[in-house]
Amino acid sequence: MEIKDAYLILADISGYTPFVKMHRASILHAEEIVTELMEAIIDAAGPPLILNKLEGDAAFLYAPAAARNNPDSQLIFAQVRGFFQAFKARQQALIKAGEGGCFCEACCNIEALQLKVILHYGQVVIKHVHHHEELAGRDVILTHRLLKNSLGIHEYVLTTEDFYSLVSSTGNADKPETHWENYDDLGSVKVRVFPPQSSSLEIPATRRFTNPKGIWEGLRLFARNFGRRWRGVKPNFANLVTD
Ligand SMILES: [Zn+2]
Repeated sequence: MEIKDAYLILADISGYTPFVKMHRASILHAEEIVTELMEAIIDAAGPPLILNKLEGDAAFLYAPAAARNNPDSQLIFAQVRGFFQAFKARQQALIKAGEGGCFCEACCNIEALQLKVILHYGQVVIKHVHHHEELAGRDVILTHRLLKNSLGIHEYVLTTEDFYSLVSSTGNADKPETHWENYDDLGSVKVRVFPPQSSSLEIPATRRFTNPKGIWEGLRLFARNFGRRWRGVKPNFANLVTD
């Protein structure tokens, strides 16, 4: 077990409603789509970033810091901005691949998915449990807590002042907006918010019932649901994933 200074990065995908994520007809496709987007983000992350773990629709990454003011802050900030390009490119590819195809709620709402990234610099306790590396400490909690904030927007890079002071000292950061977030147990936290730099999506005008593969998939889902109802099978998550 050791204590280290580290850069902490939490990338979170949101946008699907609970209906999409829980509904029998769309849950598998929703998970596939979010997984593809998550992979695009992870592929865009290179050294010094290390993927610590996946947490549902979020990826938690970190980079141990050799010393304060080291050049890694610039590199990490540039990589995080690149996450948005990678995310949007994969999102566009998924929309295009599904054009006129499957008409489940997940496939018809890929454009609703958005990315937000939290960046913090602090101290972590690194512990090893069998082969798993676990990060703990106040700064890990703060990084996660910052996802719940008062911004009212769904796509952004949010950095704490601790991280921002490192990038801004090199003079290369854009001018962000300043906010304060208040938490009962962590107090007031000064944050900086950057809008994402990425191109907008092209949404095809014709989406449904024009792709034979998609029509077949839709009919298959419909027939399977109908067959189950006919046989009186009560739907639940166990039998959803096993057939
Ligand atoms: Zn679908």
